[in-house]
Amino acid sequence: MNQQPLFPDLLAADPLATHRRVPCRACQAPMIWLPTTHGRTMPLDPAPVPNGNVVLVRDGNGLLVAEYLRRNDVPAAGTLRYQSHFASCEFADDFRRKP
Ligand SMILES: [Zn+2]
Repeated sequence: MNQQPLFPDLLAADPLATHRRVPCRACQAPMIWLPTTHGRTMPLDPAPVPNGNVVLVRDGNGLLVAEYLRRNDVPAAGTLRYQSHFASCEFADDFRRKP
């Protein structure tokens, strides 16, 4: 497995460790769980992707949180973008299917 940088700037500077690293139970890929600006938690793929729909921001308390880009949002140049692991997981259908 190749070594991609894990949120190179933000996670290294996350003294409060709001993120958790837990492998996907379906495919064992590393995932980063972060709270979202909507008060939930979501699993992100560790490596940035060019057209990801999630960016990392700090909330009012300085905590690292994931924020979904809205349809027409364009992040500042150089902003790292991520995607939910549920969008890329080869077993994604398993997550969507109701038991
Ligand atoms: Zn997976």
